[in-house]
Amino acid sequence: KDVVEEKPKAAPKPASRVTITHPDRLIFPDSDVTKGDLAAFYDAMAPVALQWIANRPISLVRCPQGRGKHCFFQKHDAGSFGEHVKHIDIKEKDGSVEPYLYIDDADGLLTCVQMGTIEFHGWGSSVGDVEKPDRLVFDLDPDEGLGFDAVKKAAMDLKGHLAEIGLVSFAMLSGGKGVHVVVPLTPEADWPAIKDFADRFSRALAQAEPDRFVATMSKAKRKGKIFLDWLRNQRGSTAVLPYVARARSGAPVAVPVTWAELEDIDTAAKWHVGDQAELLERASGKSLAGWGVARQVLPDL
Ligand code: ATP
Ligand code: MN
Ligand code: MN
Repeated sequence: KDVVEEKPKAAPKPASRVTITHPDRLIFPDSDVTKGDLAAFYDAMAPVALQWIANRPISLVRCPQGRGKHCFFQKHDAGSFGEHVKHIDIKEKDGSVEPYLYIDDADGLLTCVQMGTIEFHGWGSSVGDVEKPDRLVFDLDPDEGLGFDAVKKAAMDLKGHLAEIGLVSFAMLSGGKGVHVVVPLTPEADWPAIKDFADRFSRALAQAEPDRFVATMSKAKRKGKIFLDWLRNQRGSTAVLPYVARARSGAPVAVPVTWAELEDIDTAAKWHVGDQAELLERASGKSLAGWGVARQVLPDL
């Protein structure tokens, strides 16, 4: 009788060939996530995460010794990351030119992890034309003590107000406390126009409902309210990108959600690095297929 031989299953092929040193180093001590785990997470998520992270200037939150230790926000680099991490020269306000970082593949993503990166934050424009934003982000920041229900309601109201002026928007759980409402744009207008729109739109909301919203930075005025952080929409500002792990307790992830899903979600830190398989499956599912994609330009306000 023939014996059907079972072939040993091939190990999943890593997307990246970058070597990760100290793979056993605990990066999230409270949740047992090592540098190797984090690298495996980004390697697996690369096909979906790179849709958002690739080809835009990025800033990194690096915590080389792990989350509880020294972390820093890195915007520029002259070349210490090696060949897989690219550079784009961008003129600063003061006229100087600085090399900003960007990546375009899994090797770039994993090189950053090898260098101690946990979080990837991006400009609202791509390296093809950094002066023409391709998205707007309303970063909803609840005052301490406000529950997620209030944030959720605020995000949905924002979505409604944007729809009234013809703009499609999408929700992302930040992995922290809030929700980001993302408005994809056809890159036509420049930064001053985008910033002006975000400013006026947010101020109008805060004026209409002053007991719920505040649109100014002042901490004192935020008591019990949601800060509509429109300042993410000025040239040089960044926002955390989809499928990025956060350097916070529990290793949460910033995750795109549908508006329908959001109704039943009760925390902005719903998914964690360990949920990689579920996140991958979600990301390639039907309901999120068009997430973050729309051809639209800002109307005149
Ligand atoms: P949460 O939902 O908890 O507010 P968040 O990612 O929205 O999470 P914020 O503090 O609101 O966190 O920051 C919004 C964005 O501002 C960040 O995603 C990041 O891109 C940018 N940012 C935060 N801290 C710094 C910093 N120290 N330097 C530069 N940019 C920063
Ligand atoms: Mn926020
Ligand atoms: Mn903010």
